[in-house]
Amino acid sequence: MNTMKTSTPIDRLPRETYATLRPYVPIMTPVDVELSENTNQWGAPPAAVEALRACDASALFNYPSQPISPLLAQLAEYVGTDDPATIVLGCGSDDILDCSMRAFAEPGDTLAYSDPTFSMSEYFGRTNGLTPVGVPVLPDWNVDVDGLLATNARIIYLCAPNNPTGTPIPEASVRRLLDESEGIVIVDEAYAEFANSSWAKRAPSEERLVVFRTMSKAFGLGGLRIGYAVGRPELLLEINKASGPFKVNAIAERVAIATLKNGLPWVQARVKDAQAARASLRESLIARGFDPLPTEANYVMLPLPNAQAVATKMREKGIAVRAFTGLAVIGDALRITVGPEHMMQRCLSALDAVLEES
Ligand SMILES: *Cc1c(COP(=O)(O)O)cnc(C)c1O
Repeated sequence: MNTMKTSTPIDRLPRETYATLRPYVPIMTPVDVELSENTNQWGAPPAAVEALRACDASALFNYPSQPISPLLAQLAEYVGTDDPATIVLGCGSDDILDCSMRAFAEPGDTLAYSDPTFSMSEYFGRTNGLTPVGVPVLPDWNVDVDGLLATNARIIYLCAPNNPTGTPIPEASVRRLLDESEGIVIVDEAYAEFANSSWAKRAPSEERLVVFRTMSKAFGLGGLRIGYAVGRPELLLEINKASGPFKVNAIAERVAIATLKNGLPWVQARVKDAQAARASLRESLIARGFDPLPTEANYVMLPLPNAQAVATKMREKGIAVRAFTGLAVIGDALRITVGPEHMMQRCLSALDAVLEES
């Protein structure tokens, strides 16, 4: 009977852990120069633009061809595993991260990560009911392997090169975590194209390693939402279960395939541009007396007191950079994405002007 029903109060309808969660809301007010998201500031690959224009919209009544997409074989060739079963697709690697949290851990289990790192790891840990534990990075920017192992985590999340610091993770540290941890080790390689090393090719021969990659950064296709994981087929099957069959839409699939087929020389040339730009940006910052972190990504992290106030004033001058407040070990800092020379010049002038004013 209706009158006997004891209903849940509406503020208790969502999952309990959601009460303290803040959704990620980037500041979207327009700027002249966007250096806050680590996207490819040289633009989208011409091969992708061309493929999108050539798409047959009247075919949209069809589902995409996943989970047996030809894109899997192309990505396998690109990362060097040469086996489509070693790749799983997602709607961005954020989606793969989310799916992995529920595929490899029960609610209440521990998710460990080196702190500071990509904030979405903690976020998706929480939305999936896990208990996130941050282990502060060591003073030499290496991850604290003993500290991470001591958490007995079901999932250890690593980001290499790390976002937001840009620092790499020594191979020996990952090796020890793979040999001595109890659960899954995730290595998020969103910026691997800009770096000197990668685990992707070796992931399928490791027992407990899953490597995340994306077409959002070096490939210049953040709006397309193509992420993927590389690993043993048995592990990827579990991510697939958590995901469901059709996370990547048919247009994105077509454009990604064309980009891998025809756009790689463009992507590789832009990676070289970004590597030169980051070296030059670090030198310019050091020449000003700053102490930027070493970086293998397409951004430079600059520890700076009152970074948030500086970023706000730079934004008023049309330059967006990302501010961080109270990070473990680092404190306040600015993260500056690299781009073409004219953008770097505008960014440095704005930084100079803001620091002079204050
Ligand atoms: C940008 C970024 C991602 C997000 O990638 P999408 O594929 O766009 O979801 C994942 N991991 C890290 C560390 C990133 O910086």
